[in-house]
Amino acid sequence: MSEAISDKARLLEELRRHIGDCRRCKLCATRTNIVFGEGDPDARVMFIGEGPGRDEDLQARPFVGRAGQLLTAIIEKGMNIPRADAYIANVVKCRPTIDLKFERDRPPEPDERDACGPFLLRQIEIVRPEVIITLGNPSTQYLLGIRQGITSIRGRWFSHNGIPVMPTYHPSYILRNGGDGSALKKDVWEDVKMVLTRLGGNLGEESGRNAFESLEDSPKRDTDVQGRLF
Ligand code: SF4
Repeated sequence: MSEAISDKARLLEELRRHIGDCRRCKLCATRTNIVFGEGDPDARVMFIGEGPGRDEDLQARPFVGRAGQLLTAIIEKGMNIPRADAYIANVVKCRPTIDLKFERDRPPEPDERDACGPFLLRQIEIVRPEVIITLGNPSTQYLLGIRQGITSIRGRWFSHNGIPVMPTYHPSYILRNGGDGSALKKDVWEDVKMVLTRLGGNLGEESGRNAFESLEDSPKRDTDVQGRLF
């Protein structure tokens, strides 16, 4: 591990300590765990969702429920890199639910987003990925400061402090709209391909480079068969 990587890991640990047993917004009242985020501090790609769901709240890890399984497939089968090589975080670190019954989730409210968002911004500043992929409306709108919906802006490049940002659909949205057979998966694959192209097919490490090369070379990964990739 290089000095730069260990520095990033240390800074992320410091940020987590700074967040502590956070009570800065009302989501603290209903959470089980704070879900800080996880992944390689030196990741080239960072995924950002809106907030933890039930499974994430219970396990204190981002994207580990059904939507998480789909995101993992997007990373590992679509991008051909281990999930641990990416960095995954959310705009809010505690689960937003519709009521205290913990049955339905909701997007973060503006006050929650404003209270917690700076932690995400600091994570981005520390990791400084080469590309950010925002998943769904709340994370895209927060990071880019825009109001347009994901359907109209996905598949286009934006920028956050000089870091290219590719908005795409949230895995939960795909699950709610057809799941495995959803036509939206084709759109996500198109967005992922643009990210792969931007990264130049080179993760900077041997295994990653081979992974990206195999993604491009393998006939199984032809764009015509995107629906079977994840
Ligand atoms: S959502 Fe963020 S700001 Fe609100 S209590 Fe949790 S960690 Fe603190």
